[in-house]
Amino acid sequence: MSVQRFRGPVLPEGEARDLYVVDGRITYEPQSGADTVAEGWIVPGLVDAHCHLGLDDFGATDDEATEQQALDDRDGGALLIRDAGSAADTRWIHDRDDLPRLIRCGRHIAATKRYIRGYAHEVEPADLATYAAQEARNGDGWIKLVGDWISRDEGDLAPSFPAEAFADAIAAAHANGAKVTAHCFGHGVLPGLIEAGIDCIEHGTGLTEDLIDAMVAHGTRLVPTVMQLDKFPEHAAAGQERFPAYAATMTGLYDRMPATIMAAHEAGVPIYAGSDGGGISRHGNIVGEVEALVRIGMTARDALGAASWRAREWLGVDGLGEGASADFVVYDRDPLEDLSVLRTPRCIVLRGTVVGERRT
Ligand SMILES: [Zn+2]
Repeated sequence: MSVQRFRGPVLPEGEARDLYVVDGRITYEPQSGADTVAEGWIVPGLVDAHCHLGLDDFGATDDEATEQQALDDRDGGALLIRDAGSAADTRWIHDRDDLPRLIRCGRHIAATKRYIRGYAHEVEPADLATYAAQEARNGDGWIKLVGDWISRDEGDLAPSFPAEAFADAIAAAHANGAKVTAHCFGHGVLPGLIEAGIDCIEHGTGLTEDLIDAMVAHGTRLVPTVMQLDKFPEHAAAGQERFPAYAATMTGLYDRMPATIMAAHEAGVPIYAGSDGGGISRHGNIVGEVEALVRIGMTARDALGAASWRAREWLGVDGLGEGASADFVVYDRDPLEDLSVLRTPRCIVLRGTVVGERRT
């Protein structure tokens, strides 16, 4: 049996250690006959808490394209993905040891004609809870609702469903063992969702101080996907002529975005990193989201934790403790001192196998 040794400071603590991999698992007990595979800063496998495997601009992709998306994510260091909604059935990824661990939300649930065409189950309010229960049984412990979207009738962002329908859907998902998250750009949808006990908010640009307090009180999590929010000016420009109120709403949300997200962070709302790869954005760029979180004011430690050890703990997946699956990335320098090193991993280890290695 081959035994591999990795040597260097292990994050988040940063204590220099010899980490051994035996049978795909981590041990810190010294092992004889170990080959040293890599030395450097050892970081628990990165986590992309919001991306979409099996989606492109037009809806579901075939398995070959989906596989490439998953490989791109993995090669960017993301070894655990919470898929935030996909029109494709991607559960086959669970059977592939060379692809990232995956937590699926099933398919998005949106209001009829109120989301990107080809992405979601589009339903009427009376059917929302039924679909929530169905996707709860289809997913891996999460479902994804589209909380708000442009209403062409109102000419502005508006909640997809009445608050009571959302509350029933959240209860139905919970009764079927799944947590619930929702796409929320605007303000109006948030009070009802948070009050109804939603588990996580995606984007969250409409948060205000009182809602941030309510999230802290309820333990609601936030995945802002800052790179996706950077597209708000494009959405505003596209809507300017026909939907000026919508354009003004998006512009206002974007202007306040860094302050909004940082207010949530400073109040103690747990924030996690999501690249939103697959829904318009490219795959393999979780590092871009870490950089974006730092750009809006988070420390490197908080931003990297949001994409690694804190997110793994949240999603119930081991970090780098004794006996854990060997899922980690090795870097030449301390990423907390120099985030740019995240772009050039020395070595990527998934389930104890080196799946990526830089030779130079
Ligand atoms: Zn998304």
